[in-house]
Amino acid sequence: MEKFDVIVVGAGLAGLAAAHALADRGVECLVLERGDYPGSKNVTGGRIYVNPVRDLFPDLWPDAPLERFIVHEGVTLMAKERSVSFGYSGDELRTAPHQSYSVLRARFDRWLAERVEEKGAMLLTKTLVTDVLREGGRVAGVVAGGDELRADVVVAADGVLSLTAERAGLHPPLTPREYAVGVKEVIALPAEKIADRFQLTGNEGAARLFVGAATAGLFGGGFLYTNRESVSLGLVIGIAEFLEQDPPRDLPVLMEDFKRRPEIAPLIRDGVTVEYAAHMIPEGGFRGLQPLYGDGMLVVGDAAGFALNLGFTVRGMEYALASGYYAAQAILKAREAGDYGAETLAEYGRLLQESFVLKDFQSFQAAPAFVKNPRFFGHYPEFMGRLLRDIHAVPGGPKDRLYPTLRGHLHLRELWSMFKDFREVTKL
Ligand SMILES: Cc1cc2nc3c(=O)[nH]c(=O)nc-3n(C[C@H](O)[C@H](O)[C@H](O)COP(=O)(O)OP(=O)(O)OC[C@H]3O[C@@H](n4cnc5c(N)ncnc54)[C@H](O)[C@@H]3O)c2cc1C
Repeated sequence: MEKFDVIVVGAGLAGLAAAHALADRGVECLVLERGDYPGSKNVTGGRIYVNPVRDLFPDLWPDAPLERFIVHEGVTLMAKERSVSFGYSGDELRTAPHQSYSVLRARFDRWLAERVEEKGAMLLTKTLVTDVLREGGRVAGVVAGGDELRADVVVAADGVLSLTAERAGLHPPLTPREYAVGVKEVIALPAEKIADRFQLTGNEGAARLFVGAATAGLFGGGFLYTNRESVSLGLVIGIAEFLEQDPPRDLPVLMEDFKRRPEIAPLIRDGVTVEYAAHMIPEGGFRGLQPLYGDGMLVVGDAAGFALNLGFTVRGMEYALASGYYAAQAILKAREAGDYGAETLAEYGRLLQESFVLKDFQSFQAAPAFVKNPRFFGHYPEFMGRLLRDIHAVPGGPKDRLYPTLRGHLHLRELWSMFKDFREVTKL
């Protein structure tokens, strides 16, 4: 029976980060990936914030195949028949080192896997892990392709539904309220068209989020990120809200409606869809985090619930990278002690606690409840749309004064509801 120092299940960002840090220190590491190649099964909206993980992998970033650095931020409140957009751009976003980049996982993960193999880790693709091996009450390896593969420690990096963590008893049953489902298209467009349509020069990029009618008023939103020669366009919708919708609509139908919107259609005109994917995302925030370690196992990335949606930022990739890195550090320490029990591996939790990862999740523990306020997805886009419609209206006769126009919308009941909603901001 084969025995490795470490088996990593899943060659996404979390698994590859763990394997990179381990192989870098000479640890014998086997990475098992069910996809044809790393990146083939991985879905992201498409924007990575590099700053929090820049120092963890200093040799990686200079050559990383990232797409465009983001210099334009945009948020659109989409009402049924109109929309209101806010934009932000600043010199700091144009100045290197850049804060965030668009990224295509099929390209990035494949490249990262090559760096991991160069460090000496072994990667097996097209290999589905179907179970974990247990010995004396602890995880002692995995079952893959009918073979039993043993290891001192197993890293569960197999994403949001983590069968590995579940089989090890570290993944309680899912509740739909703690997950969202995303659908995404990569639409190929020439770089000149992207530059013209989004007012970009060189390798600058744009990020846009859409709230409201994009998801038919359900919790979630739309996103658009510009890549070098494509745009990533998609929708994310809370699973519970999606299942409860009345009348029920399919995700592909919502996506087609979204693409036909006047705010979107001109941006993707003449584009060719070259990739279509759907995937789940953890949305539980701090309270939705899964157990992080057990005897002989560590859980990283989406498998542990490390994705955080604040409405204006959606982040999972750098948490995946960082959790993989800190899992590797905990394993290195466990190797020194020659003990892979839960008590020793608890070092992983301590390292996360000291890092931006758990600090962010703790700081924003009110975020899941805040961003799920249904008024953000139905009422406010319609309200802002009507308000701006009336401000801009020039009727056939005399135009109303501005103050009565505003008062017509901002009546006492509305102001009180707004006050209650925005009081919740104080919890963030
Ligand atoms: C639509 C959408 C939009 C998003 N937008 C953003 C964004 O803009 N920015 C951001 O930072 N984050 C975003 N996220 C979240 C981010 O993509 C994830 O947090 C991140 O990809 C998690 O990485 P991971 O390595 O933990 O998991 P994954 O990337 O899912 O990797 C898990 C790997 O394990 C493999 N695997 C699974 N089961 C097995 C098995 N049994 N045996 C072998 N291999 C297995 C899979 O094939 C996969 O390669 C988004 C997610 C979605 C779905």
